[in-house]
Amino acid sequence: MGCMVDKAPDCFHPNENPEEILTIISKPPNEYYNELLHPFIIQDHPTLNLTIPPASLRNQFSSKDLTQKDFPIFSHTTSDLIHFAYKIFQISGLDTPKLISFLSLINQNYLNNLPFHNFWHGFSVFQMIYVIGSRNSQLNDFLIDKEYMILLLAAIGHDVNHPGFNNSFLIATKHDLALKYNNNSVLENHHIYVMLEILKASEIFGFEDMKNISLIIIEAILSTDMACHKKVCDDYLLVLGRFDKGDRGCRQKFANYLLHCADLGNQALDFQIASLWSLKILREFNLQVICEEKYGIQVSEFLRTGNDINKIKASQIGFIDNIILPLWVKLAEKVENIEDFPEELKRNKKKWEELKGFE
Ligand code: AMP
Ligand code: ZN
Repeated sequence: MGCMVDKAPDCFHPNENPEEILTIISKPPNEYYNELLHPFIIQDHPTLNLTIPPASLRNQFSSKDLTQKDFPIFSHTTSDLIHFAYKIFQISGLDTPKLISFLSLINQNYLNNLPFHNFWHGFSVFQMIYVIGSRNSQLNDFLIDKEYMILLLAAIGHDVNHPGFNNSFLIATKHDLALKYNNNSVLENHHIYVMLEILKASEIFGFEDMKNISLIIIEAILSTDMACHKKVCDDYLLVLGRFDKGDRGCRQKFANYLLHCADLGNQALDFQIASLWSLKILREFNLQVICEEKYGIQVSEFLRTGNDINKIKASQIGFIDNIILPLWVKLAEKVENIEDFPEELKRNKKKWEELKGFE
């Protein structure tokens, strides 16, 4: 199987017919989701897709463009994004064929026909951290160079093989993954597992390096579980008060917070891009609600917006106010040159408030 979708899927179609969705998702939950999660993994290593992008594409974009906050991600195919990521990692001196093998596998193992949790999302989180790093001499007050590169790797793969449903859904449907991980950070544990298998298969790092790299990746990806939001914020504030760059624990807490900010960074982008991300995540939420109704499990009413512009606005304004803005304000207090992120969040909140609805 795998993900052969090369164009970002539509975000929200006003005339979407729930019946159509139900015919697509017509199997019982475990059967359907097990199938969905099985495109993982690595059948054709080590000769998979080891293609260097054509010269026309290589010359199309310079690394400088990738340092732009509002990089036009939706104008690009997954192959473009693999190439851009490759360019960024190449600076770290990683072996080229192994790097491309890694990036191709990460792309293949995202379910790219999902509206939100696809390779575009992984790339956007990765690129946001790159933007911040490129404005701050690689964040070297808080991380050593190698950790910054590992954080970029973690970012691009942090949601790999996401099925488009949240942890509560997997737990309520008694999905195999929920059983495997004892209902704890089910998705995040799965992303880590897939990510580390891909890293091993691509052989970018040797056995000894993998031990330390895995530690960083595991903690950082676990921190993207929204259930850990408060702890990740508390830990960050705690270590900032006594930050010691020589202490691995301090650096890890900072890395966790940075990844969490970037994961929730979509509303800090230009409104044209931000609003597309909003519609994408809401579409995924609404699809989950439809499935919950169909399977007779408790319905997550708070995820249901349908096409109701007032509900869409309320969800985005609430998310900015309560979660993302405080997160980014605290990051910008410590990390230089990123004031434009919280500023854009404030502007976007206003834009959502002023939005009248679809005519
Ligand atoms: P992740 O699943 O790792 O991408 O975690 C981020 C979570 O934040 C998502 O699953 C959503 O629950 C939430 N989220 C991100 N962006 C938005 C948004 N624009 N509106 C509402 N929730 C969001
Ligand atoms: Zn994510």
